[in-house]
Amino acid sequence: MRLDRYLANMGCGSRSGVKRWIRSGAVTVNGRTIRDEAFQLEPGVDEVCGDGRPVRWVQYLYLMLNKPAGVVSATEDQRDRTVLDLLEERFRNKDLFPVGRLDKDTEGLLLLTNHGELGHRLLAPKKHVPKRYLARVDGPVDDGDRAAFRAGIDIGGYRTLPAELLILDAGTRSEVEVIIHEGKFHQIKRMFEAVGKPVLYLKRVAMGELELDPALRPGEYRELTPAEAGRLL
Ligand code: URA
Repeated sequence: MRLDRYLANMGCGSRSGVKRWIRSGAVTVNGRTIRDEAFQLEPGVDEVCGDGRPVRWVQYLYLMLNKPAGVVSATEDQRDRTVLDLLEERFRNKDLFPVGRLDKDTEGLLLLTNHGELGHRLLAPKKHVPKRYLARVDGPVDDGDRAAFRAGIDIGGYRTLPAELLILDAGTRSEVEVIIHEGKFHQIKRMFEAVGKPVLYLKRVAMGELELDPALRPGEYRELTPAEAGRLL
């Protein structure tokens, strides 16, 4: 791997920032100063230091889980099974954590990673990363609800950002798709509660660029493809 890529991947700065750092003579590989950003090294074998401090290789993992109902989006819990309990041994003790939370009874896309900086970036309120959900609600959803979601809904002391509501099937029980750009506690349930149509079923199907793989059944997961991971980074 190129030295500049290694340093950027390990969170030492942007690609141009780490290039400047390398050219300034601050970076050593196996004790030797390297000023060539294209220098090839073997991650995990060669010892890299910047400003005299080791820059250790961490293998980042990115898993896409179709979270089933009944497990909590936490790394540990006194009472309930967590999403980490669903993983095989080889993914244990890898410092994986769920990026954001889904309620215990909510299903669908949950990204698990040990890449802390990426997790924070996707959750940063200012980034407004869109999250798309499928919901079944009690009552006929109509254009009035669509307009209310677009205008923002008062969910008890907070007005939500504009949200998109797509009506897939309106009836005594309606099927809808909702896109929100933030992640307040129980947000979708509280939005539908506010228009008098409680949520009966909720599933997240996309988060930013990442779409839930329809081949994953509840409880199943897989590593992201390099293309999927690349779109997130
Ligand atoms: N909104 C909710 O109400 N619950 C979730 O799990 C996610 C979004």
